Amino acid sequence: MVSIEPQRYVLEQLVDSTYSVRSLVSHGTNPETFEPSTSERIAVDASPVYFATGVLPFEEKLKSSTSAIFVETSDGVDLLFDTHGHNHSEEGHDHDADPHYWSSISGVRTMSANMAKALCESFPEDSILFRSRLEKYDSHLDSLEKALTSKLAGREGVSFAVWHPSLSYVARDFGLNQISLGLEGKDMSAKGLREAIENAKARNLKVFFFQKEYDSRQAQTINDALGSVFYEINPLDYNWESQLTGLIDEIARAQ
Ligand SMILES: [Zn+2]
Repeated sequence: MVSIEPQRYVLEQLVDSTYSVRSLVSHGTNPETFEPSTSERIAVDASPVYFATGVLPFEEKLKSSTSAIFVETSDGVDLLFDTHGHNHSEEGHDHDADPHYWSSISGVRTMSANMAKALCESFPEDSILFRSRLEKYDSHLDSLEKALTSKLAGREGVSFAVWHPSLSYVARDFGLNQISLGLEGKDMSAKGLREAIENAKARNLKVFFFQKEYDSRQAQTINDALGSVFYEINPLDYNWESQLTGLIDEIARAQ
């Protein structure tokens, strides 16, 4: 079992059909505020290995209470600590980190290596399978990175807007600049909204990445004032690769 859908995608690249992978946080649930129910905790315990992101608040309690082997796929990820708001910046405390590393190639590269290592330890009879699949996935990630980097040629340093800051790792990987205009799911005052629009105009933002399920409708109001491209993203989508490719395409296309 894994915490979220993008992890399920990555783990499924490493195993064959004799393994089944399930996500604990179901579609449409916000993992940043999620708490597992009793039956969900039982399901975690019944799983031989649990792959936590290592950065979501609910995982802390799960880690100390579950009987499953508990793996944190964030081990060794170069985490960001000042990009996600509302953290207490205790250096090195992973639960204060920007959690969204699963949307980036650099984050997934480390995640998949951690997953393969844990799989080899728990199911040694299949370690040759896991190692060869990891190698294949690694080279796939290399090609994906090359392809996306070339799409962005000449676009280094470009700024894009988001409501919730879910793309800090993507911005770091590709030398882009994420501007977060939202206020942790809350609506802004009329004055705040005017200021956000002025701020965004001054930065000449071309694309506004919007999460339909969580972001305020004020995002649309700001976008109307900016005339930027309004593009829906889902950072918790199973296929994190197509999400990433889609948003890089939008940045590459924006005039
Ligand atoms: Zn977030």
